[in-house]
Amino acid sequence: MTSSDELKRRRKEEAKRIRTSLNRQRGVQHASLKGGDSAVAFVKEELCIGCDQCTIVCDDGAIEIYKVAMRSPLINVDSNQKAKIIRDACTGCRLCVLACPTDAISMIDR
Ligand code: SF4
Ligand code: SF4
Repeated sequence: MTSSDELKRRRKEEAKRIRTSLNRQRGVQHASLKGGDSAVAFVKEELCIGCDQCTIVCDDGAIEIYKVAMRSPLINVDSNQKAKIIRDACTGCRLCVLACPTDAISMIDR
């Protein structure tokens, strides 16, 4: 039977393997994205779930969360939230693109 120490060791190794793999993928993705002075982030509203992850990583205060009415009458809440980019404040750093879980943000020409 597997001991608890052995299980902990395996979990730690697996977590390390996953972290390394994710970091590698992010590095490749970051390098392949357009960015810098000539680019600005853009949010596709229909893909945004308002999770707020992009505002956490944006150091430039270039993302604002705003309220929208819920489209579905089946969900009994008044409003949903979405993110939008403040173009003048965006430095084109691309961090929000990597943070967004729904691929709602892309980099476009400024
Ligand atoms: S590209 Fe960088 S500066 Fe622009 S909105 Fe995203 S995180 Fe903020
Ligand atoms: S991280 Fe993506 S889904 Fe979440 S609020 Fe920002 S744009 Fe919307």
